[in-house]
Amino acid sequence: MRWLLRKCTSCGRYTLKKDRCPYCGREVTVPHPPRFSPHDKYLEYRYRLKKEKGLL
Ligand SMILES: [Zn+2]
Repeated sequence: MRWLLRKCTSCGRYTLKKDRCPYCGREVTVPHPPRFSPHDKYLEYRYRLKKEKGLL
């Protein structure tokens, strides 16, 4: 719970959503430059899981 804000990779808006942008539905990322981010892998995993289930 260190960094709650996420930034959309597409429209550039900030959001508290962790999986995707509430405005355009694109991927969100941690806005400050991540050197090593295990979180991203987790997000990607969840993203894929959702996609497989046909939720996207
Ligand atoms: Zn967006």
